[in-house]
Amino acid sequence: MLTLREMKELVLENTLRAYSQELFAGTSGNLSLRDEEGKLVAITPSSFPYEKMGLDDIMVIDLETGAVVEGKHRPSSEWRMHTTIMKGRPDVRGVVHTHSPYATSFAVLCRPIPLILIEMLGYIGGDIPVCEFELPGSEALGTDVAATLKNRNACLMRNHGAVAVGSTLDQAHLRAIYVEDAAKIYSLALSTGGKVELIPQEAAEAMKKRLGLPD
Ligand SMILES: [Zn+2]
Repeated sequence: MLTLREMKELVLENTLRAYSQELFAGTSGNLSLRDEEGKLVAITPSSFPYEKMGLDDIMVIDLETGAVVEGKHRPSSEWRMHTTIMKGRPDVRGVVHTHSPYATSFAVLCRPIPLILIEMLGYIGGDIPVCEFELPGSEALGTDVAATLKNRNACLMRNHGAVAVGSTLDQAHLRAIYVEDAAKIYSLALSTGGKVELIPQEAAEAMKKRLGLPD
C-alpha cells in the first residue's frame, strides 16, 4: 500500500514528466491519484508554476468532500472532475487531464477520434469520444466526463482538452500520451486529403473479444 508521501511523489513525478512532454502549457493540466481505500486523493495544486513545483506543493484532499487534508495551496480547480470520475469508476485510481495540442484541436472541432489504430483498443477501449461543453471546475463537467468514460479510458472535452484514466497514475499518463499520439496521426492522415480508413469491423470485434472489452 502506498503512503501519502509515495502518492504525492507519483503525482509530482508524472506531472513534471507530462509537462516536459508538452501535454499541457502554462499552469494548465492537472493530475491526481486516489489511495487504495478510496478516501484520499493526492492532486496537483491550482495555478502553480511547474518549474517551481516540489513535493510539498502537491495537495491531499478528501475524496467525498474535497476538503484539504494536507498542503498549503488550493487543490486543482478541476478537483470535482477528478473525484467524480473516481466515484463513478471504482477501478480508476489515476486521472490525467491535459490540453495536449492535437487532441485539443479535435476537442475544438468537436470531432471524436475514430478507431484508426489497434493500440486504441488496448489503451483507450475504442474510439475517443467528445463530451459536451461544461464550465471548467463545475460539478456538471465531472458528471459529463464520468458518463463519457463509462466504457472508455479516455475522452476529449469539448473546447477544452482531454482526460485519461487508469488503475495507476502511470497507466493514466501512458493513455494520455496515446490519446495525443492517435490525435496527431489522425490529423496528419486527414491533412493528406486522402480517405481515412477505420480498422476493419471484423478485426475490431475480434480484438475486443480478445481484450475482454464490451461491444
Ligand atoms: Zn483544463
